[in-house]
Formats: sequence, C-alpha cells, structure tokens
Amino acid sequence: MNAPASPGLYGDYGGRYVPETLIPALDELSRGWDEASADATFRAELDELLERFAGRPTPLYEAARFAPAGKRILLKREDLLHTGAHKINNAVGQALLAVRLGKRRIVAETGAGQHGVAAATVCARFGLECVVHMGSEDMRRQHPNVERMGLLGAEVRPVEFGTRTLKEATSEAIRDWITNVDTTYYLIGSCVGPHPYPAIVRELQAVIGREARAQVLEQIGQLPDAVVACVGGGSNAIGLFAGFIADKDVRLVGVEAEGAASLSAGRSSVLHGSRSSVLADEDGQVLDAHSISAGLDYPGVGPEHAHLRDSGRAEYMTASDAEAVAAFHQLASLEGILPALEPAHALARALDLDAETILVGLSGRGDKDLAEVLSH
Ligand SMILES: *Cc1c(COP(=O)(O)O)cnc(C)c1O
Repeated sequence: MNAPASPGLYGDYGGRYVPETLIPALDELSRGWDEASADATFRAELDELLERFAGRPTPLYEAARFAPAGKRILLKREDLLHTGAHKINNAVGQALLAVRLGKRRIVAETGAGQHGVAAATVCARFGLECVVHMGSEDMRRQHPNVERMGLLGAEVRPVEFGTRTLKEATSEAIRDWITNVDTTYYLIGSCVGPHPYPAIVRELQAVIGREARAQVLEQIGQLPDAVVACVGGGSNAIGLFAGFIADKDVRLVGVEAEGAASLSAGRSSVLHGSRSSVLADEDGQVLDAHSISAGLDYPGVGPEHAHLRDSGRAEYMTASDAEAVAAFHQLASLEGILPALEPAHALARALDLDAETILVGLSGRGDKDLAEVLSH
C-alpha cells in the first residue's frame, strides 16, 4: 500500500491508499483529466450533453408552501434530470473522459442502483461495454433498477460476500479494475476513492452550485443564509457547496442519515483507497451503515467533506428515517413534488435550521422510494 502522495490531500484526508499496480492508472487518469478540462472542445461537448441529453440547467424553485412562516426555502431541482438524480452529471463527464482515454470497458459499483443506472445509460449512449458490481442483497431490494440496467445493455454482477451491499460492491469494482486496468475505466459514483477521483467528481458536480448561485441571485437578489444538502458519499453536497465555498457568510450544511453518519460519528480511517472520516470501531474495523435511503447507506464519505468539517467551513447534522419520511410527505402534499428519500433528509433539517433563506439541493426524485415510504 502506498502512502498518500501530496496531490489530492484535503488536510489530513484523501490521498491514494491503493496497491502499487494502480498508481500508473491513477497517474494516467490525473493527466487525462487535467488535459480534458483544459480542452475547450471537451468542455463544449460535455456542456452540450449536459444540456440536451441530461436536461441542464435544472430550475431553482421556491417552495413557498413547504417553508415555515418567516423562512424562504429554494430547491435546486436535480430531480428533474434524465434518470432522476444528479448522478448523471458525473456519469456523462466520466464516460466522455473514458472515451478520450481510449477505454471501451467500464466498471462501476452501485448500491441502490441509481449510479449503476446512470453508468449503464451513458455506456449505451457511447457504445461502451458496462459491468456493474452490485451486492446480491441490494439486487433483491432494488430489483427494478437491476432490470433497468439490463435493458440498457449492462451486465450486473452480484457480489456475494460481507453484507452484500455497497461497501462490498465497491471493493469488487476496484478489484475488477486492478485486474483489467489496461482496457477498463472505473466509473466511480461519488466523490470518494483514491486521488484524483474525489477532485474529478467534485468538478463534474460543481455545475449544480454554479447554476444555483446565479439563479438565487437572479431570483431573490441575494445569497442564501444557508445551503443544505444530503450527504452519502457526498457528491451532490460538494457540487452544491462548491458554488458557495468562497462566500464566507453562507453557511454550508450537510445532512447525513442518523445510521450512516460518517462525519458526525466517524473516525479517521482508510476505506476504498483514501483516508476520510469512516464509521469504524476502535480497531479500524468498518461498521455497517443503516438508512431507509439506500443512497445514504455508506460507511465512508468524500475526504473533502472531512476537511470542511475539521476546518469549520461546513457543518454536518443528521436526520432520522422518520424525519426523512415526514419531510417526504410534507413536500409531496404541499408542493406536488415527490423527493427521493436522500434529499428528504436535507429537507427535514432545512425546516428547523436557524436560518431565514435556505437553498436545498433536491438531489433526486422519489419514484424509486415509493415502496419504502408506503411500508414505513
Ligand atoms: C446516490 C444519491 C445520493 C447520495 O450520493 P452523494 O454522492 O452523497 O450525492 C443522494 N441523493 C440521491 C437522489 C442519490 O441517488
């Protein structure tokens, strides 16, 4: 295992804790990404795909009936994107990068199946082979997404060890990548993993914050007092925060699931190739996460969030399953919007946050969560 190289460090976090054999591939990825992001043709192609294929820009919508008296709550509507969540922003960008690097085989991990569907979608669009590693327990719980991936032409490979969920699926995707590194691109689903993945995913999701900052200034003539987003791996939150990090008076608030609170209840440890705040016991043994929303059910989090927490620039809170379900019902009945259960956690904290004007990242739509909500 390698000690972290200095690029890709966020304070004490980040780095590259991977086998020696992956270092050349990570270097190639870093170089490829730097060149691509400096290339106007690449950026223009990405922007066009985001607009015409994914559905950007997404609206900023003021939820006036949902907001309690004396508050304004504005929703960044990533739920309106193709495939139903912010994950497509990242999948489109990384697929374009894979093509540029000459890789025709894509591997991805998925938990609830949302990232797997986004990856399968862009692979169909670019004619790439797609293998999605998914825990067999998640395959059982998220059967419609398994069917979707199949219809999109992806192969879903069941992972049969450990808790048979996202943690093991990620380990298996990394193993696949190590074995097939010459032909294969690893399309990671959140701002986690070894450097440069956290930086690439952040950049690809930063479009959320850039749009939202301009929209809020245009619509209400001021910046919000607080920006709130749910945190699983942390990609929708870091993308939204990115637009406001330099605005020191804007509070940045991340909301974790109570049973998957890597930042609120974790400790510094290494998981899936980087150091971050991880749900682990005193011996560093990674603990199982639990949440009603499969997308927040991960014991790790992106390293930049751990650093934003330590530096005090961002605050992290939790919401319970019951609070998320209550917020889901409130948004549905008062605004006519069924949110995914992940951003319902952010909505729950926005309701009682001590701030007047609040921007909330609505990271995805609730269609996938109906059974979960109805049985709660
Ligand atoms: C996957 C997912 C999340 C959690 O992932 P992040 O990387 O933390 O954004 C949040 N919301 C939705 C709708 C998701 O599908």
